[in-house]
Amino acid sequence: MRPAILNPLFAEVTDLKGVGPRLGKLFQKLCGPHVVDLLWHLPVDLVDRSFRPKVAEAPEGHIATLTVTVEQHQKPHNPRQPYRVRCRDASGVLFLVFFHVKGDWLERQLPVGASRIVSGKVERFNNQTQMTHPDYILDPAGLDSMKLIEPVYRLTAGLTLRIVHKAIEAALARAPQLDEWSDAELVKRRGWPAWRTAIAAVHAPAQPEDLLPTNPARERLAYDELLANQLTIAVLRARSRKRTGRSIVAKGDLRQRVERALPFALTGAQRRAFGEIAADMAQPLRMNRLLQGDVGSGKTVVALLAMCDAVEAGGQAALMAPTEILARQHFATLTALAKDSDIAIALLTGREKGRARTEFLERLAAGEIQIAVGTHALFQDEIAFKDLALAVIDEQHRFGVEQRLQLAAKGHAVDILVMTATPIPRTLEMTAYGDLDSSRLDEKPANRAKTTTSAVPVERLDEIIAAIRRALAKRAKIYWICPLIEESEDSDLQAAEARFSELFQIFGNRVGLIHGRMKGPERDRTMAAFASGGIDLLVATTVIEVGVDVTDATIMVIEHAERFGLAQLHQLRGRIGRGDQPAACLLLYASPLSETAKQRLSILRESDDGFRIAEEDLRLRGAGEVLGTRQSGFAEFRLVDLAAHADLIPVAREEARLVLARDAELESPRGAALRTLLYLFARDAAVRYLRTG
Ligand code: ADP
Ligand code: MG
Repeated sequence: MRPAILNPLFAEVTDLKGVGPRLGKLFQKLCGPHVVDLLWHLPVDLVDRSFRPKVAEAPEGHIATLTVTVEQHQKPHNPRQPYRVRCRDASGVLFLVFFHVKGDWLERQLPVGASRIVSGKVERFNNQTQMTHPDYILDPAGLDSMKLIEPVYRLTAGLTLRIVHKAIEAALARAPQLDEWSDAELVKRRGWPAWRTAIAAVHAPAQPEDLLPTNPARERLAYDELLANQLTIAVLRARSRKRTGRSIVAKGDLRQRVERALPFALTGAQRRAFGEIAADMAQPLRMNRLLQGDVGSGKTVVALLAMCDAVEAGGQAALMAPTEILARQHFATLTALAKDSDIAIALLTGREKGRARTEFLERLAAGEIQIAVGTHALFQDEIAFKDLALAVIDEQHRFGVEQRLQLAAKGHAVDILVMTATPIPRTLEMTAYGDLDSSRLDEKPANRAKTTTSAVPVERLDEIIAAIRRALAKRAKIYWICPLIEESEDSDLQAAEARFSELFQIFGNRVGLIHGRMKGPERDRTMAAFASGGIDLLVATTVIEVGVDVTDATIMVIEHAERFGLAQLHQLRGRIGRGDQPAACLLLYASPLSETAKQRLSILRESDDGFRIAEEDLRLRGAGEVLGTRQSGFAEFRLVDLAAHADLIPVAREEARLVLARDAELESPRGAALRTLLYLFARDAAVRYLRTG
């Protein structure tokens, strides 16, 4: 149970004075439903109101706090005109300007002859000094109620800064003193304040530097969050290790038969990764392993070999892909690779219905299907395996941890292998996939030709089209990628359609279009036509991002490359140069390029190493975007800036390890403080795994 001391923080936001249901909804949207979510909503900027010049010296465009005497109200003659109030000090005149004034509140706020303090942005209009809708209008006696330096928060429509300030103040008033959970030595060495002091400090920045992630109070809170994260991972990991798995040991006959029939030799990295996987499977513990490698690095083959062992040992294996296209492609690939081995492989996606589906279910339950390939459809309730031993999940970041667990629940002590083509920087690996062991395919198959990458301003589109004409004459296969224009699929699609019809007018029906709104069968048909040669120039939205495999595609044009992230560009580019023909990637960009965009494009021209690109991507973008955490819903940090706080991750990891080594169930006084920490960051699930949770 959550310690009572935290309860005031886990009340609904509407529990705060002055926050009713309407504001409650807005706060929920802004930061979350609970009081504690307000505490985690850190300022992004500050307003300094300490500048108090004379009216005549107040510089235009600056925030200033002025002391004036009210002289005259100039009411508007029609509602579209502003209401102006003339004020002055010894140096000059200041007009306060208001629009849409209702009632007499201005007369009450600004009685003629009274002295007032006003704070806001100074403007110059028609040679007059004015302030439109001052942020503060105060009686001089009330000056104390105005913070001279005020934090600025991210808002949402309907919320003003003033409302957010009030609510956060009320939330802070509820923040209790908590016993220190971190190592005292560490806290002292880093000069970190205690939690209560830190949370108050981050909401009261005094200077711009206080907003930096390196500010001790911010750093402390970030560390707390990391420690909660690492402790959770360590607890879950300890538990899942203890749960007995099954030992899958095969002589390897089946695997060798498949391997001998491969038209290529495995790379060193593939052998090493397979070795690690086989060793995990042989142990009577559950495997939880991540297999990372660029597109085309040969993950599928490694997975197949592991699945062969599972099948030979008498169990079943499943391979789950995030999209239907990919599931079909995996099915085709595996069937081809294993064609001489008599392994029964079958496919299930949302599109298999009626008779086909029933038959699949029957054969799966009877154990006649040895390798099941599919989409999410594979973990629906009606799906029962006879004996699922190994589950392979492709493209992890599209699935959540929950789904991983769901699939594991389909069998008894299932070993899990997660494959991802988005190499993850080491630091992030610890926070997002810390519960997994990891293998890396960091070596490309030897037969790959080089892909040359160049960046071209969009003004040279004509030259590109001419080059495409020449390439098409030589029967090249070309991808033309259109980006997400806005956060809307519609406009995204319109741009792709416009480009398609333009290219269609030039090159006729050798041009095809594929996008996310297309129905499955239509998409498959288009993809098949591109693979077999009916279509040679495929205009695509980023639907092809994941997995799709047309080995002889050699040219890719990416429009508005500056709008894509580094890792995404790298991933797209991985679709070409998969055969033995040299390939070319043309990054079309609109000038002028931002500094970051410039860096991104130049890293891509230089490097083809997914692991290096991932590190650079983290450096340039920040962690949330790299992981796509918003969608996947895990490792979502509120206070940690993974790029800036990266050095704290190993520290937190080590502290979590030490603490659990000494006090595995968190029963000591320090353990109790750490439990509070876990609850504070809503890691209730982790506490439940502790003996007396
Ligand atoms: P990934 O799943 O990592 O994108 P795949 O396993 O689909 O990569 O392999 C991509 C392509 O490379 C496939 O056509 C596959 O048959 C081929 N391939 C895999 N391993 C090798 C290798 N060691 N040498 C040559 N080609 C390979
Ligand atoms: Mg693949």
